[in-house]
Amino acid sequence: MSGTFVGMPAFPEAAREAVGNETLRGNLRHATHTIRAKRAKAVSEVSDWAELREAGKRIKDHTLRHLDRYLEQLEESVTAAGGIVHWAADAAEANEIVTQLVKMTGESEVVKVKSMATQEIGLNEALEAAGIHAYETDLAELIVQLGKDRPSHILVPAIHRNRGEIRDIFRSEMSEWGRPAPEGLTDTPAELAEAARLHLREKFLRAKVGISGANFMVAETGTLVVVESEGNGRMCLTLPETLISVVGIEKIVPTWRDLEVFLQTLPRSSTAERMNPYTSTWTGTTDEDGPSTFHLVLLDNGRTDTLADDVGRQALRCIRCSACLNVCPVYERAGGHAYGSVYPGPIGAILSPQLRGTGSEIDASLPYASSLCGACYEVCPVAIDIPEVLVHLRERVVQGGEVTREGNKVVLRPAKGHAAERAAMRAARWAFTHPGALRTGQRAASRTRRFHPRTLPGPGRAWSGTRELPPVPAEPFRDWWQRTRGGKDGAE
Ligand code: SF4
Repeated sequence: MSGTFVGMPAFPEAAREAVGNETLRGNLRHATHTIRAKRAKAVSEVSDWAELREAGKRIKDHTLRHLDRYLEQLEESVTAAGGIVHWAADAAEANEIVTQLVKMTGESEVVKVKSMATQEIGLNEALEAAGIHAYETDLAELIVQLGKDRPSHILVPAIHRNRGEIRDIFRSEMSEWGRPAPEGLTDTPAELAEAARLHLREKFLRAKVGISGANFMVAETGTLVVVESEGNGRMCLTLPETLISVVGIEKIVPTWRDLEVFLQTLPRSSTAERMNPYTSTWTGTTDEDGPSTFHLVLLDNGRTDTLADDVGRQALRCIRCSACLNVCPVYERAGGHAYGSVYPGPIGAILSPQLRGTGSEIDASLPYASSLCGACYEVCPVAIDIPEVLVHLRERVVQGGEVTREGNKVVLRPAKGHAAERAAMRAARWAFTHPGALRTGQRAASRTRRFHPRTLPGPGRAWSGTRELPPVPAEPFRDWWQRTRGGKDGAE
């Protein structure tokens, strides 16, 4: 993924600053609670939500199982419709392809539709290094770009900013990038939106190259789909002469009939709308209408490695609705930046360590960035069991066998951290396989319980500092059972 996050510390350290920032926490709390309540209302209107959720899960699982077949079908359909398909194994390859395609047009600037895939590969930075300016046109992405910031939410990348901060960014930065902010700009939403509209309009009308991602790709016709709320995407997809779309290979659905399911679940789960204000679809090129050249860059970048993992592959079902972020108590307090990836929150905690491997400090810590409360699973419109994958990835980190990527190669390494947890698990295994010793230990613990500390020493202090340690009973359960029931307990 993007180099922007390389070298980040582990999640707890990265989150510390955010947790202590009251303004940030206030912004996040207000935004996530508002979206969460609206989503719940939008979902409750649909009587067959559970069936839609199950259908989405099944369609995605089926497609992932036959991904090779559907990708080939998609390539044929796109090519037949006049598009050109490119395959990129990793971020470097995708960036190189896009850079060369833009250079071939002779242009030095592009307009972009909001796209997670291009953020994942650090495309803007790669283009900048080649002397090509990429302008984000989604309002929240524009705020992030002008503020030289990083996105902190999948759907609302500037969720950590309030209106006053946005007004200040527009006032100070817009003139650097093009049309300045209007005189006397206030922080009312209408004025901020108008300032962005005026600033972006000249870029839309000038740009000859547009770059997008896609929410879905329909294999049977080679159609790409972008859903959005502002109309900026429609401009980028229709006005430029050349359109380049960079899309993860898992975004494919076999048929339009399958797409129908997601066009119902995605808007309600993301923006709490019954349908998206703008749903743009395009199939190759059309004479005299829209871009005359269309390139599709199909991106792997760790997805086939993820697909190879029986438990972890369900993360590839994700339709990036962000509902899991808005209900997550950890995300609400830590914010998005601490996840060290363009994919924050619960989905980021399972996707990033799979796409990038668990070799770095931040990636090895992400599976622990959760209380395993399960709220993410409850709201996920494609029923990704995020807690299950988190536990699975913790196992991977703790038991060694960390998976890292070196270029195109997947490398297994022994884990570096979490030695204490490994030792504790070994001790527990020994105790549970020696019932006599376990019973002696339990009796000793009961007899000495008055002397037990209420907090743990050493590295356990932080854990016990925020929790009540359960009191040790006066009598072990097995002794109580034997005394009151008079029988033998099952372990004897
Ligand atoms: S994991 Fe589920 S809830 Fe979270 S963004 Fe993806 S589809 Fe939405």
